Amino acid sequence: MNSTTPKTGKILVVGSTNTDMVVKTDHLPRPGETVLGGTFLMNPGGKGANQAVAAARLGAEVTFVCKTGNDLFGVTTRQQLAEEGIDTSFVFTDPHEPSGVALIAVDNRAENTIVVASGANASLLPLDINKALAAIDACDLVLMQLETPMPTIEYVASLAAERGKRVVLNPAPAATLSEQLLKNLYLITPNETEAELITGIPVRDERSAEQAARTIHRAGVRHVIVTLGKKGALLCEGGRCEVIPAHRVEAVDTTAAGDVFNAGLVVALSEGRNLTDAVRFGAKAAAISVTRMGAQASAPYRSETDAFYG
Ligand code: ATP
Repeated sequence: MNSTTPKTGKILVVGSTNTDMVVKTDHLPRPGETVLGGTFLMNPGGKGANQAVAAARLGAEVTFVCKTGNDLFGVTTRQQLAEEGIDTSFVFTDPHEPSGVALIAVDNRAENTIVVASGANASLLPLDINKALAAIDACDLVLMQLETPMPTIEYVASLAAERGKRVVLNPAPAATLSEQLLKNLYLITPNETEAELITGIPVRDERSAEQAARTIHRAGVRHVIVTLGKKGALLCEGGRCEVIPAHRVEAVDTTAAGDVFNAGLVVALSEGRNLTDAVRFGAKAAAISVTRMGAQASAPYRSETDAFYG
């Protein structure tokens, strides 16, 4: 390793994995209506898996804690994660619940309907986390989202914080968070909607985003990043806030922009980079991802992100 090669970071992702089943249709069905669809696509998804895959492609050593069913989707998921170089030792299998799936219909105006059946994701419990303590001990940083049960997220955050690990929470989908969870976080990364739900402050622009970020900081989170879509991200490091603009690119599909941004952010932090540099790295990776279709499929590799000067 020479002095310009970054140290490889060790990231523990705890979260959801789903299989997205997508059917394209001319129009979305009304209640009671059957629509003959067009192309059917099956894609790996779930915010946890998306972030784990994106972080692995960006060069981190990633261990993913999640739960699947004892079914074909579970077997395929484990295989796909392993092919991405992710440590699957703590991919648990639920003997009773099916793997998580998302049933998605997309019409020709790109409007969609999505129904998620969480299945085994909802049975990832604190008891499972007790079997993964070695993974918490071994990591530099823990990354979580909110598609698995809240008691599990709170438990992981408290165990990791006790061990002096930095805990990063991407609070998506939006939910209210306990005081204790907020106090155990090193960094939280809501988008505008999520920041509004956490604080009750309507987030409409940079000024209100900053008010919301300061409110979350006062509730005990060390640092706050409010992502602002194509406008960029507001970084509040302690009490000091600045907007770091997004890259101008021709966006074709913003699905999973947030997942790729979060992955890039934690990869850079785990390599010892500061928060500003980490936001810039996350923004580069996310900018590349929005120029491509898909969720995990759009996540860039490290070489692409390093070579990007958008
Ligand atoms: P999603 O739910 O679509 O995954 P999100 O709502 O969690 O995303 P956003 O705030 O939309 O998160 O985006 C996260 C980051 O991705 C932004 O801070 C920005 O850096 C980058 N990004 C998002 N959209 C664009 C875009 N159109 N062009 C360039 N960068 C973008």
